[in-house]
Amino acid sequence: MQQNNPFDNAMQQLGKAHAVLASSKKKIKNIDQKVAVLKEPQRIVNVTLPVTMDNGEQKIFQGYRVQFNNARGPYKGGIRYHHNVSLDEVKALSFWMAMKCAVADLPLGGGKGGIIVDPKALSQGELERLSRAYGKAIADLIGPDTDVPAPDVNTNGVIMGWMVDEYVSAQKKKAKLFGTTLSAKNAKRLKGTFTGKAIADGGSEGREEATGLGGLFVLQAIIKKLKLSGTLTAAVQGFGNVGYNVAKFLDEAGIRVVAVSDSKGGIYVPEGINPALTLECKKKNGYLAGCYCSGSVCDLKKGKQLTNDALLELPVDILVPAALENAITGKNAARIKAKVVLEMANGPTTPEADTVLYKKGIPVIPDILSNSGGVTVSAFEWEQNLKGQHWTKAQVNKKLAGKMASAAEAVWQASVTHKTDLRTAAFVVALERILASME
Ligand code: NAD
Repeated sequence: MQQNNPFDNAMQQLGKAHAVLASSKKKIKNIDQKVAVLKEPQRIVNVTLPVTMDNGEQKIFQGYRVQFNNARGPYKGGIRYHHNVSLDEVKALSFWMAMKCAVADLPLGGGKGGIIVDPKALSQGELERLSRAYGKAIADLIGPDTDVPAPDVNTNGVIMGWMVDEYVSAQKKKAKLFGTTLSAKNAKRLKGTFTGKAIADGGSEGREEATGLGGLFVLQAIIKKLKLSGTLTAAVQGFGNVGYNVAKFLDEAGIRVVAVSDSKGGIYVPEGINPALTLECKKKNGYLAGCYCSGSVCDLKKGKQLTNDALLELPVDILVPAALENAITGKNAARIKAKVVLEMANGPTTPEADTVLYKKGIPVIPDILSNSGGVTVSAFEWEQNLKGQHWTKAQVNKKLAGKMASAAEAVWQASVTHKTDLRTAAFVVALERILASME
């Protein structure tokens, strides 16, 4: 077995929740047969993407779309561009999406996509041609009522825009082939096939920061239950869309973010970083080192460099892994000193690490709950596109706050009822809802 294979980890999490439900008083009919269906995706799509590079040569890229389960609604999940993308990773992420949508009580199933590529090595033109090739390759399998992709690591609204364009063009071509035309109204509705789009392209207000803001709402609900109060400190691993936004919202909520990092390393600023200034400095320099920005100034005397490993082991109240899978493993879990872990990345803690943290009394607020704000606002975007509406940011954020509070409460109550850790509780909540839709 590959070490820390994300799909093996995901199946261990499913197994734990299955065992809890199977031994609970409330009996679920045919539970074993139904859970067996959730051990493999319903459909795996393998795509081969020929792309003309700027030098005129053709390069072939490999991509995937995994449609895990649609018992509760259309498959939903992002598309990742990364050199380490693998089928098992996409399978795991699509499974987690099915669980996440169920925890947030959205009428959606789980899917995920990925391309094996280092996007930083591509020019803008090459990135566009690759994205369009992927959009075209999966066009027959997706749709607002079928499968609704979105951005994930290294993808964004611009990339979604190219894919939507390819998807709508493919539908227009198909209509022509059958002697019909696609009405403007229908073409607009079809934009609901992708979420995380730019606002001008039918995107939702508040989508870009939704994962971070949702994380704050979940954290606030859980720390109330844990009775953690006073001035809290946090360390955030990852400074991309999710890491930056969660740092910004924690800071705005009065939580002192003393450390952040990206793939090149981290920074430690004891006074607490100013996330917006730090991002500006990082953009200017190309790296975080030296961006010791606190209050309204960046000053080399205010902080120091930090490795990613050291960041995870800081004595902070809240540790926020917001980069990639397997950040907290059996190797470093014993050295974690935080009082609570808020998982903003997908799959950042391995099952082995979960056991260690549980024994140490460090609650882990699981990814399928903490980062479900992103897919929740994606679901709002989809709903707005289907209804031809555009909601204000205040409307979006109010609905998000309500959804996150309900999800956190359901997970907390399940952890009390079943006397389990929060992750198992979240999987139990999700599994019960999915199994009920499989009747
Ligand atoms: P992103 O590409 O915007 O950012 C990723 C960040 O992680 C970058 O700052 C990168 O430098 C950093 N990173 C990569 N490897 C690292 C390492 N070894 N140590 C420290 N930092 C490292 O991606 P994102 O959208 O912010 O996604 C981050 C995580 O959140 C992923 O696990 C993703 O699946 C998850 N997620 C994203 C969303 C969303 O709405 N974007 C929603 C839910 C979950």
